[in-house]
Amino acid sequence: MCQFCHQHGEGKKWYLQAKNYSDDLLSDMSRRKFIERFAKSDPKLLTRQSERLRKLDKLPSLIRGLAARLFTRRMKKVHFGQVVPIEEIEQILGFVNSITRVACVCRRSTLGKEKRYCYGISLAPDGGEFRRIVTKADSSFAAGPDLAGLERLTREQALEAFRQHEKEGLCHTVWTFYTPFIAGICNCDRSDCLAMRATVTHAVPVMFRGEWLARIEPKACTGCRQCMRVCQFGALAYSAGERKASVDERRCYGCGICRAACAAGAIRLVDRRSDEVASRLW
Ligand code: SF4
Ligand code: SF4
Repeated sequence: MCQFCHQHGEGKKWYLQAKNYSDDLLSDMSRRKFIERFAKSDPKLLTRQSERLRKLDKLPSLIRGLAARLFTRRMKKVHFGQVVPIEEIEQILGFVNSITRVACVCRRSTLGKEKRYCYGISLAPDGGEFRRIVTKADSSFAAGPDLAGLERLTREQALEAFRQHEKEGLCHTVWTFYTPFIAGICNCDRSDCLAMRATVTHAVPVMFRGEWLARIEPKACTGCRQCMRVCQFGALAYSAGERKASVDERRCYGCGICRAACAAGAIRLVDRRSDEVASRLW
């Protein structure tokens, strides 16, 4: 299990621990201020962060590695994520009491437009303090060009939306706002999501891999390669000789997006701990 499961999970996966979504954690003023700043995020600020990541790549490897480790350590305290497959998203949606769809701050910066790929979640029936802070901090959530205010969803509507995101090849991730408080689930891809770019493209991790790992049943695999088209992590290889796909366990994040794309039903997710190599990679 990942570091946060050990620190904040009390024997469970940390993101399945209801107390990590509780409104009580919002009595911390520094956390409230961070959420306000986050909701107000200027797209230009995110563009600058992207440029910083590119500059980091040009540093000598020793300095680069040190800077990346320091950044990751800080982000683990403030805003860190983990990849979560759809069945566990369903479990989370099963115990939270409020689900609000909002515009993605990354896509505002990378695409210059609003894409509703992010979800605020809370145990409070009305969205609690989180919703109040976000609404106050960013009026564009309530009055954007193609928005009709913060959009409340039922569990069923939200789950259907997540299934749709999965079909679009987007990877589900949970996020802390001053760890261990979780208030958001995002749907990421490597091209538009800055967190995924930092983690995968620039090797500056701001999210853990999922607790899972993909496995392909060779007998069931037809060699169609559809799975390879959707994997955001470059974790699938193809053998022309065998006409089969296979998973590189060192790269797999266990998101399950390939599974959704496999018409042959040849892919399943297994516990990351069951694989000697993957169990040491987070
Ligand atoms: S999508 Fe399924 S059947 Fe097609 S190559 Fe991938 S594992 Fe094999
Ligand atoms: S191989 Fe499948 S489960 Fe693993 S990272 Fe790629 S899409 Fe996700």
